[in-house]
Amino acid sequence: MTNIPLVDLHASHAEIADEVRAGFDAVLASGAYIKGPDVAAFEREYAEFSGVGHAVGTANGTDALELALRALELKPGGGVVLPANTFVATAEAVVRAGLTPVLVDVDDEHLLIDVEQTSARVRDAVALLPVHLNGQLAPVDALLEIADGLPVVEDGAQSQGARRHGRPSGSWGRISATSFYPGKNLGAYGDAGAVVTDDAELADAVRLIGDHGSARKYVHETFGFNSRMDTLQAVVLRAKLRRLPGWNEARRAAAERYDKLLGGLDGITLPRTLPGNEHVWHLYAVRVEHDRDGVLAALQRAGIGAGVHYPVPVHLQPAFRHLGHAEGAFPVTERAAGQLLTLPLFPQLTEDQQTRVAEALAAALRHR
Ligand SMILES: *Cc1c(COP(=O)(O)O)cnc(C)c1O
Repeated sequence: MTNIPLVDLHASHAEIADEVRAGFDAVLASGAYIKGPDVAAFEREYAEFSGVGHAVGTANGTDALELALRALELKPGGGVVLPANTFVATAEAVVRAGLTPVLVDVDDEHLLIDVEQTSARVRDAVALLPVHLNGQLAPVDALLEIADGLPVVEDGAQSQGARRHGRPSGSWGRISATSFYPGKNLGAYGDAGAVVTDDAELADAVRLIGDHGSARKYVHETFGFNSRMDTLQAVVLRAKLRRLPGWNEARRAAAERYDKLLGGLDGITLPRTLPGNEHVWHLYAVRVEHDRDGVLAALQRAGIGAGVHYPVPVHLQPAFRHLGHAEGAFPVTERAAGQLLTLPLFPQLTEDQQTRVAEALAAALRHR
């Protein structure tokens, strides 16, 4: 039997292959490989998709987060509150923007940033940086209420197309960032990212900082760096953006099928959706109560591309030792890191494949 990958990028490519080839041919003929009309068109389309006035393409999602934070001109060294349960890039971007990560734990049901703990850190912070983990929005409405005027910056790397109370990911914060890393719901064929905002001045600042601080050739108004979107990536992203609503719908249907197939299994907890959220299921991660690593190994032996997001939380990474958090600092995040198990999920995943995943998981749980 063939293996079932965690993510099948070939399957999505097959749906857009002709369009991408024609688009690439046009770019190659033009000889213009950075920004250009395709990037501008994608920026307009992605801004509209996100329900905001402006989108700025960047070289990757980590840069997009850094650019969003730098555009806000926050007090140097100021604290930025973010959840301990995230991909390391969220914290990296804070440090690179000259600010200080202030980690808080997540809630045990949804593994999203804990509002009460965030509230306790508002007084000594300069911004809030919630992460829309696994495809659903953090409780941004509650965060805006407790923010006390601090800007909220969304890390929307895992939530393209997700909504909360009908409002899209990226439209809640003063400025927000996303990633088009190939495995994300909207993935490029290489690195890419974007900043979205309703604020024209912030969008201009992002453009300036991400293009060597320069709006006119050889005039460098501010200290910047290089983080621009490649034209070829914009061709891919435009083709995929048109399919994204359908693909996200297919992910939702697959998540519902997993809920049904796995609902009766003992020893695991299924992922939960925060009320008010329209989830786009970037990842479908169950929690295994005992011996997650044994279950993971059994699935891998059965040819199922299961994974763990994330095995070691940010505060226990050597690179962030300087933040001074010992083991036990964020117990919910740490327990989740030992229990989470991500199952294959992508728009073209079939019912048969899901049945095989469920059978392999049931067998692995029985034979521990
Ligand atoms: C992928 C990801 C990023 C970083 O994106 P890159 O494009 O890989 O730099 C940031 N935050 C989260 C939560 C992510 O999942």
